[in-house]
Amino acid sequence: MGTADNETLSPAPSSPAPSFSQRREWSQDQAISYLMAQGIENPDCLSLAAGFVDFETLPVELSRKAYAELLDDPQTARKYLQYGTTAGSDRLRDQLIKHLAKLEETTVEELGIDRNQLVLTTGSQQLLAILADVLFDPGDICLVAAPTYFVFLGVLAGVGAEVITVEGDEGGIKVDALEAQLEQLKQEGILSRVKMLYLVSYYENPTGVSVDADRRQPIVDLVTKYSTDHQIVLLEDAAYRELRYDGPKLPSLWSCDPTHSQVVLAQTFSKSFAPGFRTGFGVLPKSLVQPVIDRKGNEDFGSSHFNQNLIATVLERGWYEDHVFEVCENYQKKRDAMLAALAEEFSDLQQEVSWFVPHGGLYVWLSVPEKLETGFNSELFAYATNVEKVMYVPGQLCYPHAERKNQMRLSFGVLNPDGIRLGIARLANSIRHSLK
Ligand code: PMP
Repeated sequence: MGTADNETLSPAPSSPAPSFSQRREWSQDQAISYLMAQGIENPDCLSLAAGFVDFETLPVELSRKAYAELLDDPQTARKYLQYGTTAGSDRLRDQLIKHLAKLEETTVEELGIDRNQLVLTTGSQQLLAILADVLFDPGDICLVAAPTYFVFLGVLAGVGAEVITVEGDEGGIKVDALEAQLEQLKQEGILSRVKMLYLVSYYENPTGVSVDADRRQPIVDLVTKYSTDHQIVLLEDAAYRELRYDGPKLPSLWSCDPTHSQVVLAQTFSKSFAPGFRTGFGVLPKSLVQPVIDRKGNEDFGSSHFNQNLIATVLERGWYEDHVFEVCENYQKKRDAMLAALAEEFSDLQQEVSWFVPHGGLYVWLSVPEKLETGFNSELFAYATNVEKVMYVPGQLCYPHAERKNQMRLSFGVLNPDGIRLGIARLANSIRHSLK
């Protein structure tokens, strides 16, 4: 029977292979898929790699309550179980306007947007992919601060975009470096190919760095200034915005654009609530609303209507804020456990190993001596995963051309504090072994 099945599945010898699109070719060898596979192939490894959120604080009870409310009255339940619209549930979008007003510390009136500028997507990832699709032709340019979110680098590669990196530091992308880069592209006559500046503005994945408060307005002003023959869209990926543990409360880049015509604000309920609902959203300049809806219409004509309404209930009932508070308290402890473990385990390697202390998010960015490579094919990665049984994300994935090879992303999302301490001890053993 097995043989028969295999025979049925194998293409007939005479059958030619499909002729794949160029985009298919550009989407090959995605780091995210390889990384997920590594996790599955090494189940006994402690994962400091997974971008997953904490299991213990996932909102089981709140979801159960909201679910029961949605299904309570069969008439309304049927409405939620029906298709919605491509842009998403009005109920959730109205709640989101109130929620955003709170985050921006202003009133709904002052916020000055209407629900039609909000599009609900299947995670914020879908919005990032749709924006790349509607903005980039092959060869068009996206500016990023490197290192950056490696899955978005994959999306950009998938549409044939060219990625140009701009220098950053512990305060995020450098304003003078951004200006110099834009000016250079203008002098070279290729500013017309620059379609987007992409920034993870809060507790960046992978570095934990946020864009400093005093850089935010100048960045928006620069992008506006260089948007001459066409608009350079500033995509503000604020996925980790609500996971703030200490440090200053930062205004969004979006709020520095008073007419809301330049900046897209992308947010998600994945990190602060539950990624399983796959609910994210974008606040879009009016010029981008229809292009995004048209593209999404081709893709799925609307994200899960039921899940959107479940989140709307959680917001409406005032359950969300308490939950986020609890989640942040928990992550703060886990971040502190990781930082304490790093300080302890690397106390004898202070000259060689360094890391950035994040005020929020899920990640700590670690640098090791230049002579040590951290990539999938490195001795360190093999020793860490096979011998010490600990996994991290190689930092080079977060650069468009693997420019730096001696860094890694460590996540404190999934493991509990004891697991984090053990994971860091194993990592320290691996690094010491490879340094010998
Ligand atoms: N942006 C960043 C920076 C992320 O780290 C992630 C998730 N890893 C996303 C966007 C997308 O998340 P989701 O689709 O779950 O909203």
